[in-house]
Amino acid sequence: MTELFYVPRRGGSVLLAGLRDALNTVPGQKKNIANLPKDPRTVYRQLHLDPVTETYLCCPKCWALQPYNAETDNPVTKENPDPLIPLCQERLTEGDAACEEELWKKEIVRGSPRFTPHLTYVQQLLKNWLGRILSRPGIEDILETYPKTASQREEGEAMSDIWSSPTIKNLTGPDGKPFLEGAEEEGRFLWSFATDGFNPFHNKEAKQVVTSTGFWAILLNFPTHLRYLFENMCFLGAAPGPNSPASGAIIHSLTS
Ligand SMILES: [Zn+2]
Repeated sequence: MTELFYVPRRGGSVLLAGLRDALNTVPGQKKNIANLPKDPRTVYRQLHLDPVTETYLCCPKCWALQPYNAETDNPVTKENPDPLIPLCQERLTEGDAACEEELWKKEIVRGSPRFTPHLTYVQQLLKNWLGRILSRPGIEDILETYPKTASQREEGEAMSDIWSSPTIKNLTGPDGKPFLEGAEEEGRFLWSFATDGFNPFHNKEAKQVVTSTGFWAILLNFPTHLRYLFENMCFLGAAPGPNSPASGAIIHSLTS
């Protein structure tokens, strides 16, 4: 329910507590109360509601990304308690010097030193998102039929959508054949990319400029009235704040 009505996590906890109270008054249901989790995150896990994501180590200066594994990327060991902190080795172009920004900070966690990243970037995996949306009843039919009808255009008639553009129709695949037609049993998808900055504190920033830069993948196979609905757009991720990355750095993040 919290997912459907966009209730914050705290609201979800109250909702679950309410359900437990309600069950308490129903005869014969008391034994089920223990099965109701207290934390909505447990529900997300059990029902696989959370998006599938990958986390990257993000350079605070040039926004270069590199794979990050919280379990293994921790160079502090008993044998080597004070290792050199790895610096960012990214070069914007081949002739440039390495960025050399610190990527990690050393912290004492439960009495032992460990490195934690200055910044991380979490990316939703597009394939998994697509798999999930295709499993929604009726969606596959919509995504298949709309491009076919939208690409039909009479001579001289104005283009109503990107699908009737000659450039899109003539896109070819690696085999040199029209890409979007594809084989009968294959799905072909056309995406656009959107990015925008938003204030994560809903304009309550007390005169400080705080920006998160979000990245979205828009599935153009949806008809226009469904295309930009919240549940039909893939939120790829947000560049970590508090400042927005320079435009070159955004590209840096996206190519990683
Ligand atoms: Zn860097």
